[in-house]
Amino acid sequence: MTALDDNIAKLDGYLARFRDTGILNRIAGQDVAGSAGTFQSTSPVDTSVICDVAHGTTEDIDAAAKAAHAAFAEWRDMPATQRRKVLIGIAEGIEARAEEIALCECWDTGQAYKFMSKAALRGAENFRYFADQVVQARDGQHLKSPTLMNVTTRVPIGPVGVITPWNTPFMLSTWKIAPALAAGCTVVHKPAEASPLTARLLVEIAEEAGLPPGVLNTVNGFGEGAGKALCEHPLIKAIAFVGESRTGSLITKQGADTLKRNHLELGGKNPVIVFDDADLDRALDAVIFMIYSINGERCTSSSRLLVQDTIREEFEAKLVERVNNIKVGHPLDPATEIGPLVTEEHFNKVTSYFDIAKEDGATVAAGGVTVGDAGYFVRPTLFTNANNQMRIAQEEIFGPVLTSIPFSTEEEALQIANDIPYGLTGYVWTNDLTRALRFTDKLEAGMIWVNSENVRHLPTPFGGVKASGIGRDGGDWSFEFYMEQKNIGFATGQHKITKLGAL
Ligand code: NAD
Repeated sequence: MTALDDNIAKLDGYLARFRDTGILNRIAGQDVAGSAGTFQSTSPVDTSVICDVAHGTTEDIDAAAKAAHAAFAEWRDMPATQRRKVLIGIAEGIEARAEEIALCECWDTGQAYKFMSKAALRGAENFRYFADQVVQARDGQHLKSPTLMNVTTRVPIGPVGVITPWNTPFMLSTWKIAPALAAGCTVVHKPAEASPLTARLLVEIAEEAGLPPGVLNTVNGFGEGAGKALCEHPLIKAIAFVGESRTGSLITKQGADTLKRNHLELGGKNPVIVFDDADLDRALDAVIFMIYSINGERCTSSSRLLVQDTIREEFEAKLVERVNNIKVGHPLDPATEIGPLVTEEHFNKVTSYFDIAKEDGATVAAGGVTVGDAGYFVRPTLFTNANNQMRIAQEEIFGPVLTSIPFSTEEEALQIANDIPYGLTGYVWTNDLTRALRFTDKLEAGMIWVNSENVRHLPTPFGGVKASGIGRDGGDWSFEFYMEQKNIGFATGQHKITKLGAL
């Protein structure tokens, strides 16, 4: 039996229950059918139906928001050490079911097992990290004035909505839900319609770890139905959203009437800038990893390569050779590096850029073709002879597709890097320290790595500028979003109070 056969057999076992019952919504610790019936979840590997999924709408969101509201006081007031224990229990539950989570995620999204096995464990890490912050999350300052002792404290904002996309859905859900629960908020989670499986596993694991009913509720459905209703619900105090920039704009509009606080983690078209003085072997590895891992369906992917003209020919030649060697295949095969794209709609979008590139005058130097007859497989693709005005340089393709653009000077590289509506990440490869300092100071991005691929460190701020988002995750930045600052002034003496209406 090959490793692929073994994984397929294990997956079959894990999916049996979903085939029987479908995926139900989870509200107040109960399984609940969707008020609009069901929709079907299909696998991008062979387009087969995985299972029915509860189709939630306004009614289901209302029930979930009420459940989150009812559970809020108990969760908020539970001693921090006890809440911490529950979060650690969730981390342990994720670790115990990491294989199930990873296999289901691969089948649901098309992501390769090679990367998803780690994504499940990163989800556990998110819970462990925020569990360790629970006890001090509400601590504040004392700010003495001549007449008052001012004491600040942080309190959880209330029930919050979490809306997540289909790329690495398990990891991204934990990234939002772990700090929300650590802060003392209760949650209504609306997972992406294209990838509902692992959100169901998460709520089960959380309840098994002792999370009280109603603290985490999961409502499946579509953006314009359940998603919109969540943004509009008056009992929901904030929305933590991860998804496309244009959806982020809708989230803001939909939350306006209820004065929603929004945290938006949106799209990117991130540059990796390779100067001729860099360690070119390491730069090559990082350039390839940051666009072709996770199917290129990654907000932080470096989808624009800005390469100095002095090394361009040699660098691109090596790139073509490596890209042509990347293994596209069944996502459950541990050797596979790129699996199928998530949905037919997304496959059509990504492949449309193969023609757009040619129409714009770029060269398809590698890939640019689909693979096989079933499923949504594409070859990893490299466009060369491009300029920054082309659609392949300006638009987020969100697949394993890299656009290479040459530059000659540092000033030109900076101008090209910043000439884009997005500003999530940037990657700079140079061995000139002063250049790195100058360049990163002017580069418009929320996160920049120098001589490194994206390596996430949980205490650091994660988020974008421009059309890539508003707000930051990570460390205390997460608590700033999920909590309110409160200041209480205590008089320290008999200071003069101005008298009105007194004789
Ligand atoms: P999407 O915006 O289409 O959908 C994301 C979620 O929003 C889904 O759950 C969807 O149902 C919901 N939604 C859609 N319309 C809605 C509405 N009107 N109201 C409320 N909810 C609505 O995004 P996607 O295609 O699922 O994900 C890919 C996008 O996510 C890419 O643009 C990618 O860059 C971005 N992303 C960003 C980050 C980040 O940290 N910045 C991380 C991962 C993905």
